[in-house]
Amino acid sequence: MRNLRVNSDRIGADLDALAAITDPGRPWTRRAFSPRFDQGRDWLRRRFAEAGLDIAMDAGGNLIGTRKGSDPAAGVIMIGSHSDTVPDGGRFDGVAGVIVALEVARMLDEQGICLRHDLQVVDFLAEEVSVFGVSCIGSRTLSGVLPAPWLELTHEGRTLAQAMRDVGGAPDQMAARRDIRAFLELHIEQGIVLEPSGTDLGIVTDIAGIERIEIVLTGQPDHAGTTPMTRRADALVAAAALVTDIDAEAKRRAAGPFHFTATTGEFQIEPGAANVVPGRVRMLIDARSSVRAEMEDFLAWTEARARDLPPGIQAEIRLLSDNHPTPMDAVVVSALQAAADMVGASHRRMVSGAGHDAAYLARIAPAAMIFVPSKDGRSHCAEEWSETADIALGAEVMAEAVIAIDMQEGE
Ligand SMILES: [Zn+2]
Repeated sequence: MRNLRVNSDRIGADLDALAAITDPGRPWTRRAFSPRFDQGRDWLRRRFAEAGLDIAMDAGGNLIGTRKGSDPAAGVIMIGSHSDTVPDGGRFDGVAGVIVALEVARMLDEQGICLRHDLQVVDFLAEEVSVFGVSCIGSRTLSGVLPAPWLELTHEGRTLAQAMRDVGGAPDQMAARRDIRAFLELHIEQGIVLEPSGTDLGIVTDIAGIERIEIVLTGQPDHAGTTPMTRRADALVAAAALVTDIDAEAKRRAAGPFHFTATTGEFQIEPGAANVVPGRVRMLIDARSSVRAEMEDFLAWTEARARDLPPGIQAEIRLLSDNHPTPMDAVVVSALQAAADMVGASHRRMVSGAGHDAAYLARIAPAAMIFVPSKDGRSHCAEEWSETADIALGAEVMAEAVIAIDMQEGE
């Protein structure tokens, strides 16, 4: 066992306490904008207060605990993640990062370490896709990029704007923060790279960009028993070949030097009857890469492939959303890497295939992330698990990096 300055037992107890605040019979569910989420936040507020943090809620409904620094002009070092969950999952997703941020503040106090910068511990509002169908509400607002039309999105008669107000936010006062000198987020990996290789930590270099491509194939619905096999325009047969080719193309790209994935995750067939030749298919492709050119190139390939169809089949292609990759800040990445070396944690550089609040913070501040191992790579499910010892080691690295950044920043 390493000699850590952070308190592993306290981290474990906090994770258990927050996990216990879940919708009954649905481990682990604390959806943003639900009473259960508010209950979790009340618990966090008390823990922040016990740690001596000054508590505030910002315009985006982010819960922020501040530990004052010695130099009011130095600005803020912010650490944290999110406490909301997906349905039936997420005991550690986001939660680990919030608890670790809190532990860093507590450890600095116990060690009598006074930073020059204010340290802010943050719980971002609604990182997961919420009942309003959109994600990263708090971090987008804090970065000043929440699209205004989203505020009018409505769920069960309540607008997103009202839901943000209900948790204590003030969406009409959105303004990008300009005082954050560095943002650091610890998150569980949610993938299968770290655990099998026995690596303690992932140091994230880039957060993948995501494009969603909709393809609608139109053929001709006909009688399944009387239409000869040679005279059909079967949209499903054409779509099936397309799906297989997309998978092969994605595997080819993934074998290259850059992170790449493509998934046909939504698929609808019409009319959907046993005795009718399928006339129409709608499919949705999620493609991700750390390199913008790869995304553009894949889109061009998909467009060309989707036009190369059997007679009688037409394709319509639409790019539904397009988020660019986000490189992490080289200085903060180096600080995390040096901190991992100092603590004696093994590490490897990696790309995050999942989106995170840090991608929005990177728009307004130098930002970087570390990953801790996920058991069997499972996430967004009840089986999601990370060891407290691994999370504590990550916390120690985060604390060391914060101390280093506090000393170097502004010199
Ligand atoms: Zn998360």
